[in-house]
Amino acid sequence: MPIRPELRHFYRTPEWFAAREAVRKRAGDRCENCGAKDGAVGYRGKQMRCFIQLTGGQTFPPPMQPDAQLILIQCGCCHRNGVAGDDRLENLAWWCRGCHLRHDKPFHRDTRAARKDRARPLLAVEGAA
Ligand SMILES: [Zn+2]
Repeated sequence: MPIRPELRHFYRTPEWFAAREAVRKRAGDRCENCGAKDGAVGYRGKQMRCFIQLTGGQTFPPPMQPDAQLILIQCGCCHRNGVAGDDRLENLAWWCRGCHLRHDKPFHRDTRAARKDRARPLLAVEGAA
């Protein structure tokens, strides 16, 4: 999800980069939610959506899951409370894109709804004063 232009300045400060690096080190460069290693290649298992890393010598897609999609794990720093600029270490998490998107889904839904509402003309109610 792209960062909105009015929030981008939060992600350009030296404090942000320092906090981000501290969180990455704390997590051991693995998603703190699902445990997938940043840069790993694999697929999500059908049950529990766990990440199965391909290590070589394996066939893809696996015979048990012929519809599996190959994915590259890309971890990033995320605000647990969804407030850009709240860079307290306990509020930051190192999550893969999948976990980050699942976490942010309600925020994205609200943002989409607000944007859609702003674009709508006001409803005229007949008989209302
Ligand atoms: Zn994850």
